[in-house]
Amino acid sequence: MPAKEERDGEEITNPYHIVQRLIERACETLELQEGVYDILKKPKRIMKVSIPVRRDDGDVVNYTGMRSQHTDILGPTKGGVRFHPNVNEDEVIALSMWMTLKTAIVGIPFGGGKGGIIVNPEDMSEREIEELSRGFIRELEPIMGPEKDIPAPDVNTSPQIMGWMLDEFDRLRGHNVPGFITGKPLIIGGSEGRIEATGRGVVITIQEAAKRLNLDLSGMKAAIQGFGNVGSITAKFLAEAGVKVIAVTDAKGGALNENGLDIPGLIAYMEDHKTVKGFSDSKDISNQDLFGLDCDILIPAALENQITGDNAGDIKAKIVAEAANGPTTPEGTQILEDNGVFIIPDILCNSGGVTVSYFEWVQNAMHYAWKEEEVLEKLEEKMTAAFKAVYEIKEAKQVKMREAAYLVGVGRLAQAMKARGWIKNWEMPVDC
Ligand code: NAD
Repeated sequence: MPAKEERDGEEITNPYHIVQRLIERACETLELQEGVYDILKKPKRIMKVSIPVRRDDGDVVNYTGMRSQHTDILGPTKGGVRFHPNVNEDEVIALSMWMTLKTAIVGIPFGGGKGGIIVNPEDMSEREIEELSRGFIRELEPIMGPEKDIPAPDVNTSPQIMGWMLDEFDRLRGHNVPGFITGKPLIIGGSEGRIEATGRGVVITIQEAAKRLNLDLSGMKAAIQGFGNVGSITAKFLAEAGVKVIAVTDAKGGALNENGLDIPGLIAYMEDHKTVKGFSDSKDISNQDLFGLDCDILIPAALENQITGDNAGDIKAKIVAEAANGPTTPEGTQILEDNGVFIIPDILCNSGGVTVSYFEWVQNAMHYAWKEEEVLEKLEEKMTAAFKAVYEIKEAKQVKMREAAYLVGVGRLAQAMKARGWIKNWEMPVDC
């Protein structure tokens, strides 16, 4: 896979190529030997599986699933499982690489993993989704486990799906292994605060950014793309912090109210209607119009490559908080940075989810459950420390936030390689 693909007129949107370039650049700045980039530029293991599912009409359909384990330098690989028709190998690999960087930045002992199934779950019944989820685990069981690789929810996967996956794994092993998966329902070992963790973490990073920029959040306007787990919870906590969430969109449409949407009402509406479109006291809005809105904070919380060379110039927000993974292309990033927009990069912004997943895994290992306040206090501590580490490198090296985040992540991985004896004669040029 070429790391330095020439653009040749086309914007680079392959997330694998994007993350490779960013890691390569960090390796160069940190004056690391070429071998370090050679290790980090690809996954340690990728497994593709076939999952036959008997549909309700009696037909059998064979779905493709995959799991990428990027590196376990810092600990067992960890990352979500995505159900989406556009899942592909390069995307899953990139997502696993971002997981590696996230866990390094937030300082938890995990490596990066990610899984996906090429499927549109909207076309399936609950029974079919359960069969698919169980089949995925049956095929991947040999390479998974609490000390090897630990899945979690991602796009279109839920605590219920984690519960089915855990049950399948327990059956295969012949005993309970609660630490095999995170994001599961509380009653079978889930953690307080996990469902809300990613959105909470996003809001913590926005608060930290506002402090550094001397901005007062109350009364500020925000727009959010994506109203699933991450987008809706981010909206809820932003509204509680006094921010007016004026617009949200999802895959089916959007809702705009210049005076601020009623977020609890919108969450209830979403549960009934499966879309935000048509919410009372709001106007319809498209994704493209959302990006150009006159607002202070823009939060992409859906999929990759949403802020591009084509629309980044329209963005008026002062802060772009990347709740989604890889929502901004390199060209989009360049335009935002040139325009003075403060980007909270994905590998920092959305790391609250994996942080509380780590707490869930720790609680499972102890066979003990913490109260919600304890989880939230620990989350706040990890997120603010991660933000501080990235911000300090940004200031010390006079770079932008994304580059600083890669320097912290890659720097810590290199330190672990050194401690393991993989690299010699290298000192971290900056503290992190
Ligand atoms: P989700 O499935 O709960 O929600 C996804 C949302 O995006 C839905 O509202 C969907 O309608 C919307 N969407 C999809 N395509 C869209 C489009 N073209 N335009 C507008 N909206 C669109 O998924 P999620 O868990 O909220 O994940 C969202 C993002 O956050 C992903 O990038 C995911 O990898 C990332 N993330 C999730 C977690 C987590 O804990 N769930 C943690 C870290 C990062």
